[in-house]
Amino acid sequence: MGTSESIPRLSSVTQRGERRVDDRRSVAPTDDPVRLVGLHRLVRGTMRSFAETVAESVDEVFTVALGAVGSFCDVDRAYIFQLDPDGDHLSNTHEWCGTGINPEIDNLQHVPIEVAGPWFEAFERDEHVYIADVDELPDDQAELRGILAEQGIRSLLVAPLRSGGTMHGFIGFDYVRHTSAFSRADLDVLRILADSIAATMSRLAAEERIRHVALVDPLTDLPNRAMFTELVEQGVTLGTPRSRVDDGSDHQPERRSDRAAGRAVVGLIDLDQFAQINEAMGFEAGDELLVAVADRLQQSLRPEDHLARIGGDEFAVLIDGAVDESSAEAVSARLVAALSEPVPVAGHVLAVTASMGFSIDDGTFIHASDLISAAETAMREAKSLGGARAVAFDKDSGQRLAQRVNLALFMRSAEGLSGLHVAYQPAVDLATGQILGVEVLARWEDADGSPVPPDIFIPIAEESGLIPNITRRVVETTLCDVDERFAPLVDGVLAVSVNVSAFHLTQTRFMDDLRGLIDHASESGPIRIWVELTESGVMAESGVVVEHLQMLADSGVRIAIDDFGTGYSSFARLRHLPIAGLKVDRSFVTGIQDDPINQTLVRAQVDIAAELGLLLLAEGIEDEAERATLASLGVRFGQGFGLHRPMGADDFEALLRTQRAGD
Ligand code: C2E
Ligand code: CA
Ligand code: CA
Repeated sequence: MGTSESIPRLSSVTQRGERRVDDRRSVAPTDDPVRLVGLHRLVRGTMRSFAETVAESVDEVFTVALGAVGSFCDVDRAYIFQLDPDGDHLSNTHEWCGTGINPEIDNLQHVPIEVAGPWFEAFERDEHVYIADVDELPDDQAELRGILAEQGIRSLLVAPLRSGGTMHGFIGFDYVRHTSAFSRADLDVLRILADSIAATMSRLAAEERIRHVALVDPLTDLPNRAMFTELVEQGVTLGTPRSRVDDGSDHQPERRSDRAAGRAVVGLIDLDQFAQINEAMGFEAGDELLVAVADRLQQSLRPEDHLARIGGDEFAVLIDGAVDESSAEAVSARLVAALSEPVPVAGHVLAVTASMGFSIDDGTFIHASDLISAAETAMREAKSLGGARAVAFDKDSGQRLAQRVNLALFMRSAEGLSGLHVAYQPAVDLATGQILGVEVLARWEDADGSPVPPDIFIPIAEESGLIPNITRRVVETTLCDVDERFAPLVDGVLAVSVNVSAFHLTQTRFMDDLRGLIDHASESGPIRIWVELTESGVMAESGVVVEHLQMLADSGVRIAIDDFGTGYSSFARLRHLPIAGLKVDRSFVTGIQDDPINQTLVRAQVDIAAELGLLLLAEGIEDEAERATLASLGVRFGQGFGLHRPMGADDFEALLRTQRAGD
């Protein structure tokens, strides 16, 4: 029987009887303190990011929100469809996919709206649509059933994006692995998100209308520099290679791979003799020339390309969907041809030439402005070669890229690892100040000896496969310091914790290395080794990770969840992981004395830790007020600049010595 219908109350889903709501999902988030903490942060964080977002960042903000909500509700896919400007078609504009789920965004562009006709009838009544089982859609919705089945969708829940009477499209959740019911909480979260996204879309559209007035060059009626940058930004965003899982099953000849591979081309055109013409013939003639040139250039472009006037005598073109250097050359040839005919100006016929520079979005440009300045660099080179020519930007001179490559190269070199050392940040008993443990933090200096923060070098090391070497070196250095310098000064037990990237827990070889090192350590007296993993890392759905965590735990290593409260774990999940501690993220700690919500959330974390028998440590404590508040909420352990900053081995040794003398 047909199961596509709009259901004003989700209870009607469960009443249908034939689809049981999964027990795990039927738990309302408020029944689970861990989910409550996650939900609070989710809603708060999302609302804040929406309130602050501007047109340039909105796509990222929406995608991040889809990811947060999708992971929170544990669905396979979360996405946004927006009406195309023609109002008759829909396009998938934002998408988040769970681990191992194929993206479909590229297959769902410019879809006729009739396909989802019945949905929009429900949307107009401000209702959502729930399809429990796509296979059971009735035959009068065969086309929809076909499209959904093609994407492997088994169950879905969609809700309108409507704000102030404007329909923007819809938002939805899919299950593709198996049919699955949605809970009341899933629906609530989806509707809250839908309302906020729609409101944000309306706000940005209004801002856009106002801004337009400021975005057009009054002389030529072309977009100005600001608008061009925005156009390129859109092209570049669209062109950014998506991390996609390609299962090779997609044999359509017309894949949108040109876009997926990221191929916008920016061309800059600077007239060679404009200053002289202006001087000799006057500004009015100069203006006339600019208008004529704009016209010529416009005619040499296709309707989907963009022309702008971005400076006095500087024009820019954005060519979408060009594939390689040769198409850039083809375009430049057309532009050159457009200018090769003399231009009639103020009763004279002028021969005009231009210097052109091109840059191609090869996926290494982060901002539109980078792509534009690359084209500008090339244009200046064309000018310095005598003008009347085009030069393509040499990608290798892209500084950002070169810098990253150099950093990775240096880290790989023999001297590279010698720039690596460690810092020790003590962890204390919040009531007594006694040092009970220490976190090991990697520090690294580049070839010039200047420090590179871990937030920069850890991701580079991860991308270039160097992390195992770094962790090995960090652990070796630590164990050496511990053996020779710290252990003799410890009376009770010192917890030594190292940070490990979750990805490496999937690597068997890395695990063997780590265990070898740590086995050795567990023999060395009063030391207890901890491993810190971020919450998102542990929650990644990987059986291997859990298995390896278990192996570590069995060999006596304690495992702590780092940045706790920033991911979307569930109580049930935590209970089944072999963990021994939680680290309250700094974002809960900062200013907690004046923040009742964070106080509530930390109190909830104290309860969770107590319930599960876990040790709880708050990180990032910067002052006495934070320390005292946390202690009064029942947090026993803490770490932070206000207690001790990260320090070298000498200083930490001295600190242990002082503590011992004081005892
Ligand atoms: P994390 O594990 O959350 O480490 C805590 C970070 O907070 C450290 O930054 C520490 O210096 C900083 N911190 C501690 N107390 C305070 C405070 O009171 N206020 C403020 N504002 N910050 C405080 P650091 O050393 O820059 O490390 C950043 C991140 O890099 C770490 O975050 C960790 O995720 C990663 N990392 C550091 N060392 C390693 C390593 O050996 N391996 C791996 N995989 N990751 C590492
Ligand atoms: Ca840490
Ligand atoms: Ca942390």
